[in-house]
Amino acid sequence: MFIMNSERNDIVFYGKKLITSNLTTGSGGNLSVMNRKEGLIAISPSGMEYFDTQPEDVVIVDLDGNITQGNRKPSSELSAHIELYRRREDINAVVHTHSVYATTIACLNWEIPAVHYLVGFAGTKVHLAPYATFGSRELAENVCRTIRKSNAVLLANHGLIAVGDTLKATFAVAEEIELVARIYYQARTAGKPVILPDEEMDRVISKMEKYGQ
Ligand code: 13P
Ligand code: ZN
Repeated sequence: MFIMNSERNDIVFYGKKLITSNLTTGSGGNLSVMNRKEGLIAISPSGMEYFDTQPEDVVIVDLDGNITQGNRKPSSELSAHIELYRRREDINAVVHTHSVYATTIACLNWEIPAVHYLVGFAGTKVHLAPYATFGSRELAENVCRTIRKSNAVLLANHGLIAVGDTLKATFAVAEEIELVARIYYQARTAGKPVILPDEEMDRVISKMEKYGQ
């Protein structure tokens, strides 16, 4: 009997969407969702292609990293996911991508400033976490220290991590920040982008909270 079935299905669905939305390739990146009531996390298996991943391949772990259910090895970035859930009680999902433009900015060791109002999906800007080997505790620490209260962080020479309330909302953060990264890269290539002031971004962020249906 499998537990966390709706979370397992969400991991499979949004994993495939990472590929079809061009946010990652192969088995790169990973994603998880937390059920706070159960105290359990559903996380993608390590090194498995998203279109091969079945709901039963998703690994269920607790906040100490103990495997509650699953025969697969959990994502190598499990410690980063767990640390984020521990330190950010407002989030229930984590999406990590190697999307091309965000990763380009991360490889230049730049940050993403408020070049477009959509950076508000993350915060007033997207900060850069210092480089550490993938899957290391040091990387988990760098990510948590850098992301603070925002919803996204660049991983130097690696990629992007987005966090949020639901997997759907978190996927949208990863997608919109990739768009802003592309715009920023192109704008810097063509000239000197104009950056929105912090007061305007504060206005945008409060407006975004009420945006939509
Ligand atoms: P996993 O397949 O172990 O999740 O690793 C992919 C990755 O992007 C590591 O940073
Ligand atoms: Zn990665």
